Parts: sequence; structure tokens; C-alpha cells
Amino acid sequence: MRPDRVPRITPAESGHGTLEALRESNRSRVINALREHGAISRAEISRKTHLSRSTVSTVVRDLTATNIVVEVGPRDGAGQKARGGRPGVPVALSESAGYALGIDVGHRMLRVAVCDLGHRIVAERAEPLAGLGPKDTLDFAARLARTCLEQAHVPDDRVVGVAMSLPAPIDAETGTIGAPYLMPGWADVAVGAEISERLGMPVRVDNDANMCTLAEAFWGAGRGCDDLVYVKAGAGIGCGLMIAGRLHRGASGTAGEIGHTTVIQDGRLCKCGNRGCLETVASAEAITGPLGRAGQPDIGLPAAIEMAMSGDRGARRVVEDAAAAIGVALANLCNILNPSRIVIGGELTQAEQLLFDPLRSAVRRSAIQAATDAVDLVPAQLGERAEVLGALALVLSDSHQFMLTAPNRA
Ligand SMILES: [Zn+2]
Repeated sequence: MRPDRVPRITPAESGHGTLEALRESNRSRVINALREHGAISRAEISRKTHLSRSTVSTVVRDLTATNIVVEVGPRDGAGQKARGGRPGVPVALSESAGYALGIDVGHRMLRVAVCDLGHRIVAERAEPLAGLGPKDTLDFAARLARTCLEQAHVPDDRVVGVAMSLPAPIDAETGTIGAPYLMPGWADVAVGAEISERLGMPVRVDNDANMCTLAEAFWGAGRGCDDLVYVKAGAGIGCGLMIAGRLHRGASGTAGEIGHTTVIQDGRLCKCGNRGCLETVASAEAITGPLGRAGQPDIGLPAAIEMAMSGDRGARRVVEDAAAAIGVALANLCNILNPSRIVIGGELTQAEQLLFDPLRSAVRRSAIQAATDAVDLVPAQLGERAEVLGALALVLSDSHQFMLTAPNRA
């Protein structure tokens, strides 16, 4: 069974106004809504696309007839084919509409996931990543991606897009890492070109905080929120900014480097070359360093948090001080961006109230009242899978690269 190509989806050209152009435009609006929101009802499609219910019903009926869209829900998989378009039953893009591939290269783990355009994960793998240089890391990532595609029986021509997360800002123009001190050895690696060549497919590369922001906005604690800040607090501190529903990357891709905003004018020297950055008082190293000097050599962040949670006064103090410093940086951000939600993720969230209480009170103390009244501070929901899920979300949210193919019905 060879897949038939259906036309590339593009917005109807302005000025045409023909019936065919209108039909094509309606069709892409419905497909884009489904790609972005997964399984939703016809009524929800109508709300999200501003198309009338009857137009949505007609488009969905046509897409169902060609197997691009399927009804999902309790009856799905039970062999019952729904007919006639019951308005409350969710519909989604079918497996045959295509797949997204997501890769997360972290400091310690490599994760790969494949999902269909109906948001169903069809393969996911995680492997420890330690001591490899950039070339070997990218080889490993490409191999694991191949394994996942094979495991899910997804041929290359069914992959509509690939995205990869890296724990550093990416310069969109050069495809290289915009802050090389964050990933020593990677400075001159054209990451995007290298991984694309290994996979034989174009790959979008973006930083981990942006990916987590997208993932939390799609499936986690940021759902339904258009003005969202995601903060990742762990080894370093970075954030992703969603403004009016769109990720804000900045002129060279470094937007959201909150860890390198100055919190102490003449403070300690930071690895970025500046003094007194947030990371000099609130990164994992800044928290564990003083504990090491106090007779706890080589202690990691999880152990430091555990000490703090079990009542060790010194550990508790450094965690709370770090939380307060992050709160001050976020208060400044609240004054500038006025987000309605701040989602906090990363390893430091294991400190629970020891993190959230001082952080919330620092935000309340330092930001203007209207900004603090508007904002909710909530823990992230997607944990260590957030980056790889965000890579999938980046593909699902990117309509420009989208090509839809549908197999013939047998
Ligand atoms: Zn710095």
C-alpha cells in the first residue's frame, strides 16, 4: 500500500477568493487546530478556528473519509466506526497523517520519543549519557532516534518534523551554541547541521528551557495560558518566555538567560565572565559548594536538598537563600513581562516548600502589586520528560514544515 501524496498545506492565497481556495484554507485551519490540540471535539475546533460548526462538520467528514482524521474516545479501538459526526466525540489526526520525532540531549541523559499527529506517543527511549564528546553524543542520538522509528514502524517519509533540545541557548542564525561556556567542547559544532546530516532529515534545534515551556503549555502546568514563564532550576537556571502564545527567543536566541542576570553588583565571578549572576547564588554548584566546605565533600544537589528537608540548618539556609534570589529575579521579570503563570521545574523543585515559600514571598515583596496579583507560581508537571515532549510540541506547533500524507484506504 503506497501512500498517496495530498497537496502541501498552505494558507489560501489572498485575493483568490475562489471556492477551492476557501475550502483548502478551512481544511488547513482544522488540521492545524488538531495538530496543536490533539484530540478535541468538533465544537472545540469551531471555537479555536472561528469556523462555523457546519463548516467544521463538513471538513471533518471529508478528512475522516480519507482516513486523515479519526474519532477517538471510549469507542476508539473497539472496532466501532462512528458515522454522522456526533458533535461531542473528540476527533484527532490519525496515525496515517504522520509522526513527529523529538530528541533531548541533556547533561546526563539522552531521550528520544516519537508521537503521531494525534499526540499519541508510539515509542520512547532514555539512555544515560556520560563522558562523550559532541560527535559521539550526536552519533548516539541519531542511533537512538533510528531505533525508536524502527520500533514504531515509522518510515522516514512519514516523519513530518524533527526537533532536538540542548541545555544551552542556540544561535538561530548559525545553528551553534550561543553560550559555549555552558557546554564546553561544543563551541564550534554546527549542531543543527550535524544532527540533520546524521538522520538524513532537517532537525530544528532549540534550548531546553524553551522546549520545557512548550511542553508544559501543550500538556502540563501551562495549559490554557498565553503569557507564561517557565523556569528550570537545577545545574543552571534558565527560563522560557511565552508571550501572547508564542515563544520569545530574542534577536540571537539567548532570551530567558535569567541565570545570568545580576543579583549582586560586586558578587562572585560567574562562568559567563560577569559578577554576581543569579547562578552564583542559586545554581546547584552555589548550593552544594558551601556545604562541601562545611564538611560534606562532593555532595550533589539531590543530597543537599535531602539534608535541607530533614532539617539540617546549613543546607536549609542555602536552599532558602537560593529560592529567595530566584524570587527576586522573577519579580523583575514579572514587572517587565506581566505573565499570568510562572511554572517552576528542574531538580531544585524537589525542595518543595523550602523552594516555593521563600520564592513566592520574594516575588510578592519585590514586584509591583498588579503584577504579583496577576501571576500564579506553580510547580511543573512533566518532570524529566519535559524536554523531549517539548521537542515533539515544537514539531506539532510548527505549521511551516508541515506536510500531510495519507495512505490509500485498503
Ligand atoms: Zn553569569
